[in-house]
Amino acid sequence: MLDDDVRQIIAATRRFVRERVVPAEADIEQSDAIPPDLRREAAEMGLFGFAIPETYGGLGLNMSAEVRLVFELGYTTPAFRSMFGTNNGIAGHVLLEGATEEQKKAYLPLVASGEWTASFALTEENAGSDPAGLATSARRDGDDWVINGAKRFITNAPVADVFMVFARTDPDAKGGRGITAFMVERGTPGLGVGPKDHKMGQAGAWTADVTLDDVRVPASTVIGGEDGVGRGYATAMRCLAHGRIHIAALCVGLTQRLLDESVAYAASRVQGGSVIGEHQLVQGLLADSATDLYAARALVTEVAAGFDDGSDTRIGPSCAKYFASEAVGRVADRAVQIHGGAGYMRGVPVERFYRDARLFRIYEGTSQIQQIVIARQLLRDAGVR
Ligand SMILES: Cc1cc2nc3c(=O)[nH]c(=O)nc-3n(C[C@H](O)[C@H](O)[C@H](O)COP(=O)(O)OP(=O)(O)OC[C@H]3O[C@@H](n4cnc5c(N)ncnc54)[C@H](O)[C@@H]3O)c2cc1C
Repeated sequence: MLDDDVRQIIAATRRFVRERVVPAEADIEQSDAIPPDLRREAAEMGLFGFAIPETYGGLGLNMSAEVRLVFELGYTTPAFRSMFGTNNGIAGHVLLEGATEEQKKAYLPLVASGEWTASFALTEENAGSDPAGLATSARRDGDDWVINGAKRFITNAPVADVFMVFARTDPDAKGGRGITAFMVERGTPGLGVGPKDHKMGQAGAWTADVTLDDVRVPASTVIGGEDGVGRGYATAMRCLAHGRIHIAALCVGLTQRLLDESVAYAASRVQGGSVIGEHQLVQGLLADSATDLYAARALVTEVAAGFDDGSDTRIGPSCAKYFASEAVGRVADRAVQIHGGAGYMRGVPVERFYRDARLFRIYEGTSQIQQIVIARQLLRDAGVR
């Protein structure tokens, strides 16, 4: 893809987000749903497949272009991005990273076009931060596999057409070894989706439990075919590294929006005869938030470049996700403070974003897990096993 094309995609996304999605935010919050016309237009713009190569029907953005696009998507309710986030990110990438060429050709175009919504089903009740401890099992039965288990907090599960399910295929293997990824289509007998969860924020983005009760699937659903057996965990970890940079970019976009809301309020709210922005203590809050924004944006941009050239696919993604998600939390907190009592009231954007932003420090690896990934890799590089 040429630079000019990328610039046009980013400019069109920026216009769409600011002119169409931002005005719909209150409605999305109230109805807990993305309006169908926004979904249709997002699909027409190629947003369900921006990270999927052009050969398979996507826009084929590399990580450096993707983060610039996601800075724009982050400027509005995270639910909008979540609608196609799993297709581009954790779920679509399971196919990209692990599937056979035949599987990629058959399924990625469905994901890239938005004809299919794909979900990534890894987390379980007793396997969150440590997904290697998952208990969902798959046992071979002739040419089929039979899957049993339960997943929870699965994004887009209520609307997903297909699930990337991680299950233990070798009960004797320890940790991540012996885990295999399967592609299970909605409607497969034994696959159940629970009611949507009641979340703190990000209304319009849905999660639910997924249950697998003697789900019988053919061997052709193993991601990567016969060679993919036992390789699911490694695939999941590669998808999460990409996903972490993506989430960090999303945090940058939301940080920009929170800063804009904060500056606009500080420049217009009058107390004691002057706008509150004239008070140096309020200026301090704005300056700290702007500094967080500049630092997070520069970090994410640099980490994306290192991911593209392959020089850093592990420490950088975790540093970016860790810093940017913590930063957007600080900035959201300051934005509420700058808005005073109004910042605590429903219907005011910064109150909604304060709740929305809280998730970023939790999913796709909590802040503590990012710290562990970063430190372990540093020590490994220093020869400590
Ligand atoms: C809205 C939402 C959407 C999600 N979407 C998906 C999805 O699409 N697919 C999917 O598979 N999962 C999804 N998840 C799950 C998410 O990835 C997990 O919730 C997350 O990884 C944390 O796991 P946990 O909730 O089990 O918390 P736990 O692992 O129980 O962690 C609880 C606390 O303990 C800390 N902790 C745990 N282990 C350690 C350790 N070794 N060292 C230090 N501290 C530790 C954690 O940092 C955290 O503070 C989603 C979650 C939410 C809330």
